[in-house]
Amino acid sequence: MITIKKYLLITIFFIFLTGCTKSNEKIGMIIEKNKTSAISIHYPITNIKKIDQKVQNYIQQTYQNFKKEEKQYLQSELNIDYTYFSNQELHNICLTIYTSNYKDLKKEKTECITYHTKTKKYLYLKDLIEQKDWMNFINTIKRKQNNQDFQQQIDSLSEKFSNFSLTNENLTIFMKNSEKTITLSFNLKEIPLKIEIKENKKKEEAISQQVDFLIDPTKPAIALTFDDGPTQYTQEILEILKKENVSATFFVLGNKVDMFEDTIQKIVKSGSEIGNHSYNHKWLSRLSTEEIKSQIDKTQEKIKNITGIYPRYLRPTYGSINNRIRNATDLNIVLWDIDPKDWKNQSPEKTVQRILDKIDDGKIVLLHDNHKKTVKAIQLLIPKLKEKGYQMVTLSDMEEIQILRKMN
Ligand code: ZN
Repeated sequence: MITIKKYLLITIFFIFLTGCTKSNEKIGMIIEKNKTSAISIHYPITNIKKIDQKVQNYIQQTYQNFKKEEKQYLQSELNIDYTYFSNQELHNICLTIYTSNYKDLKKEKTECITYHTKTKKYLYLKDLIEQKDWMNFINTIKRKQNNQDFQQQIDSLSEKFSNFSLTNENLTIFMKNSEKTITLSFNLKEIPLKIEIKENKKKEEAISQQVDFLIDPTKPAIALTFDDGPTQYTQEILEILKKENVSATFFVLGNKVDMFEDTIQKIVKSGSEIGNHSYNHKWLSRLSTEEIKSQIDKTQEKIKNITGIYPRYLRPTYGSINNRIRNATDLNIVLWDIDPKDWKNQSPEKTVQRILDKIDDGKIVLLHDNHKKTVKAIQLLIPKLKEKGYQMVTLSDMEEIQILRKMN
């Protein structure tokens, strides 16, 4: 009995410890698509109850309000993306809430909170800047932003202004009135803060020992693909792939790449492939060519920074393609052949059965690594596919197999 207790304690301690490291950061996510609307929501989970509750309440409210309104419009979209900065002293979270509908009415706003770890209080901008620097700061803002409409707001910044984001280098302020929003960025060298923002980013070595899989053009092949990650479940999926000695393709979101740097590295190291699934899951086919380009290119750069290579494949969000997307990129655009709807409220067994019903040589299977049930599903699926004689390959290897077959 004593041993069990001790073991349990050690386990809890271990979970606590690993909970602090960067690679184990958690995110919350909702991605839904039906006939009338598309929803993509991402938010950080800090493991500080007070913050998480506040963020999740806000998300829930926004989601419910959108659901109520969505019925009046066709083809409406809700997209919530975030930035999250934390160090020993504070947590700063900004949510950007974007909505659009078929009339092309686009709205975007940003809401931020900053939580001080020691005092367990939310901070205002005023709390971050020394009293003696305050007037200087206000004058700097006025120099940068001379729009008359915002003069009054700038003057009242000292009150309870909390709409700002932080990074290692910048402080950014978001101000809005009834007509527009303005964003002002300051280098932290310009504006000294009371609270120290330390540079703590570690750069890892380039990937050296990548696992290489042998492909066999005489055997039937299947490409398993995972969308909407990386998430806290991606590592579990990678473990299963490793154990089964197979590979897959992960269509990742650019805004999660930095947070899940270790996972991204593991995908490549384990011989699997990374594809591009946009920066923050906006409905790509409804954006301008310019915006689509930015969604794709930002993601390409993020991935290249970590893996050293640009992805080759793009999977457009919600599986929707148009000429603007085709014109915006040279990447190969890849959809899927089998959609088992693993994101729906169904058992892993059902997901597996839906795949097995349609399985055939050369097919691409759509899965999602942001659902716990998908982990179980692929655990069941891979042995069954092996039994049927399939090899599971990346999209690049699938192309290679087709080339080899043509040569023979
Ligand atoms: Zn998606």
